[in-house]
Amino acid sequence: MAEPVDHVAFLGLGTMGAAMAANLAAAGFAVHAWNRTRRPFDELGAAGVDIALTPAQAVATADVTVVCVSDTPDVEAVLFGPGGAAEALRPGSLVIDCSTISPSATRAFADRLAERSVAMVDAPVSGGSEGARKATLTIFVGGQAEAVERARPILAAMGRTITHVGPIGSGQAVKAVNQVILAGAYIGVAEGIVLAMKAGLDVEQVVGALSGGAAQSWVLANRSERMIANEYPLGFKVALHHKDLAIALELARDVGAQLPVTELAERLEVELMERGHADDDVSALARSIRGRSGLPD
Ligand code: NAP
Repeated sequence: MAEPVDHVAFLGLGTMGAAMAANLAAAGFAVHAWNRTRRPFDELGAAGVDIALTPAQAVATADVTVVCVSDTPDVEAVLFGPGGAAEALRPGSLVIDCSTISPSATRAFADRLAERSVAMVDAPVSGGSEGARKATLTIFVGGQAEAVERARPILAAMGRTITHVGPIGSGQAVKAVNQVILAGAYIGVAEGIVLAMKAGLDVEQVVGALSGGAAQSWVLANRSERMIANEYPLGFKVALHHKDLAIALELARDVGAQLPVTELAERLEVELMERGHADDDVSALARSIRGRSGLPD
């Protein structure tokens, strides 16, 4: 029977991590958090989150360490780089990686942590910055059953739908599937909006009319307004979605799957980043469709 979790370290206080750490504190965990770039983090302080100066300081008393940083090399740096958490992680403790990274690297990181008697689960999330703030994230968890059960109270404080999908790395593979489906949804909604605009339809009315039918989706409900206005506040950065599609395409190559729409989305996102839109919300894929159709982009 696992010990109850009291102390949680949280490494990475970006758009997602800051909100998730605040929700852990609100749920009653003692949270020691760290971020690479030092900022005031006043709201987190007010929420009861203690800000540590180094990863080692944050994890020193932790039963569980949550990581939420950008990409595979960043998780490696935070865990195993100079001054990284691994040196100070307590044997017997658990690492929950909520970043979206490569499934194969995840398995390698878990092996390296196991050498220090530290367990790991991968727990990438879906549901956007809204889901992080409202603690309604959907979480795909990979790992051994016992570690996943230890992680569950922590995950339940940050998310609503938590599914154990298989061994370590499986959460990241499911997240890749999620991002592939989303790529198609963004492109499909953007194309529909542009077609409605070019056809002279009342596009807001079209969105309302479609919302009860088979074309309804999270992207249609939550991002079509931005595509119509051609304004893309965060959100989820184009650069991060592009990173996720690279992970998905690598997995596809490994397993012999062909993903033509994902390849298209990846190319359009490269164009957007080259035009300076890396930090736009990923709904900015509509810029590419608008521009090709002679609309302001
Ligand atoms: P973000 O706002 O860009 O924040 C990234 C965080 O990672 C920051 O705290 C950043 O620290 C830290 N970081 C990056 N590289 C690092 C390194 N080498 N060493 C130490 N810290 C590093 O990103 P986010 O939106 O919170 O996303 C975090 C993760 O969640 C990503 O894997 C993303 O794909 C995933 N995700 C995001 C969303 C979303 O809607 N935003 C949804 C689902 C999943 P600094 O402040 O010092 O830069």
